[in-house]
Amino acid sequence: MTVSKRVAKSGAVTLPRQLRQETGILPGVPVDIEADEDGVHIRKHVPTCHFCGTVDDVKTVCGIEICRGCAEKIREEFEE
Ligand SMILES: [Zn+2]
Repeated sequence: MTVSKRVAKSGAVTLPRQLRQETGILPGVPVDIEADEDGVHIRKHVPTCHFCGTVDDVKTVCGIEICRGCAEKIREEFEE
């Protein structure tokens, strides 16, 4: 599916309704935006541990995405 759009003054580009529904990129869904030689890519954000990079069992704590393993390491540091 290729759709041509113009970039608004604000820099915004509206995703066509059909594309939003197909991809599940709906209002409020966090996205990652990446640019490379092919252009700009928008993907649903996958929560990723800030410390080790895993995507398994990740929660957001104080605005930082952290996995259970790293959270436990930090907790152990405070238990001494
Ligand atoms: Zn981690």
